[in-house]
Amino acid sequence: MPFRIATFLIASLLLGAGAVAIFGWGFGWLGAWLGAVLWLGLDAWRADRLLRVLRNDASGLPSRGPGVWGELSERIRKLLRDREQQTRQAEDRLQEFLAAIQASPNGVVLLDEQGRIEWCNQTAASQFGIDAERDLAQHLANLVRDPAFVAYLASWNYSRDVVIDAPGLGHGHQRSHPVRLSVQVHPYAGNRRMLLTRDITALEQAEAMRRDFVANVSHEIRTPLTVLAGFVETLQNLPLDADERMRYLSLMGQQSHRMETLVNDLLTLSRLEGSAPPSGSQWIRIRALFAQCEDEGRGLSGRLTPQGHRLSFTVDAESEVSGAPTELQSAMSNLLSNAIRYTPGGGEVAVSWRVLPDGRGEYAVKDTGPGIAAEHIPRLTERFYRIDRSRSRETGGTGLGLAIVKHIAQRHGAELRIESTVGKGSRFALVFPAARVREARVMAK
Ligand code: ADP
Repeated sequence: MPFRIATFLIASLLLGAGAVAIFGWGFGWLGAWLGAVLWLGLDAWRADRLLRVLRNDASGLPSRGPGVWGELSERIRKLLRDREQQTRQAEDRLQEFLAAIQASPNGVVLLDEQGRIEWCNQTAASQFGIDAERDLAQHLANLVRDPAFVAYLASWNYSRDVVIDAPGLGHGHQRSHPVRLSVQVHPYAGNRRMLLTRDITALEQAEAMRRDFVANVSHEIRTPLTVLAGFVETLQNLPLDADERMRYLSLMGQQSHRMETLVNDLLTLSRLEGSAPPSGSQWIRIRALFAQCEDEGRGLSGRLTPQGHRLSFTVDAESEVSGAPTELQSAMSNLLSNAIRYTPGGGEVAVSWRVLPDGRGEYAVKDTGPGIAAEHIPRLTERFYRIDRSRSRETGGTGLGLAIVKHIAQRHGAELRIESTVGKGSRFALVFPAARVREARVMAK
């Protein structure tokens, strides 16, 4: 570069000196001086032009002009273009990051040093009931006024989260459900803060269910255990004759049988929850399932009441269902045993199978028992939910039967339908999807 500047200068000097020499004025030094002034003037003019363009809008920079200023302008132009491209790329990446945070199921809010909202994603906006654009630069503590949240935000101790009721709506929740939010603050870049929010409604519900379940199981086990312990004590301390001993032992047997049934039902439930869904390739004849239901039903009815029940078994269409045979048998027998257990002796229990016009198959158990009030029906499949506690216990119920039936139905894509009228009776039906029902193959004689 200095070489090129020097070359230009020398060329101007020579040009000036040459011009003066041609005119024969004989003052070579004056010519050279004039050349230098000319060169300086030209140089200053071009520098000024470039400066003016840069001051206004660098986009008007001339491309590839002559000389040093031309190259300078070209290089600045290139540099600016590269910078612009880098800025655009950085902007694109920022937008991608923001889009990723937008897509997060968790809420994210960024606060500046004063606690004003700098940015928040849509999830946080809907959970806090704020507007992601309108409320920018607002103090979050003014918008979310939950005292626990305000105190947490002001405490600057963020070692753990704070749990509050969401002032807005959580994802996929109706207003009727309170949404529980876990909010955790993470300070960054000095005094800036990032808030992460998490909808923990389902988690809290699951935790409450788990607690209830453990309490229920403990209660169910404790009752027969207490009775059993009482009998053991009696046998140890009282001189009993053989008959009395037998009576006590048989009562003890009943209690241990009750505990065994409960443990079996619990194991069945946990197996159902933990195992893979039943295949669709194993087919079982409805007749075979009915035969076992009939055996068990008649036995149970005879044991429960001296006069028994009027039981009927009707298969409208010879069919097969696909699924796990033991599960299907268990669900069908469960519904039948409920009908028998809750219908007083002499009552009627009708078991039927039919194929609906759309190809679905319906297994139904209809009884003339006490019926069930409408408010209980949606809760019947909850674990340990019973209407008539003493009747359930007397007849060997665990409170888990319908929970098991519902599980099995779900695993087979079937629907459990319950219809009942108090004082008239109930109808429990399992409706299997058409894909799991087919006409029974005729067996070779
Ligand atoms: P349980 O072992 O107590 O019978 P289930 O889960 O099978 O438990 O049933 C839940 C409750 O539903 C029962 O306690 C009973 O009150 C009610 N119930 C079930 N089936 C019938 C029925 N056929 N008629 C009347 N009530 C029924």
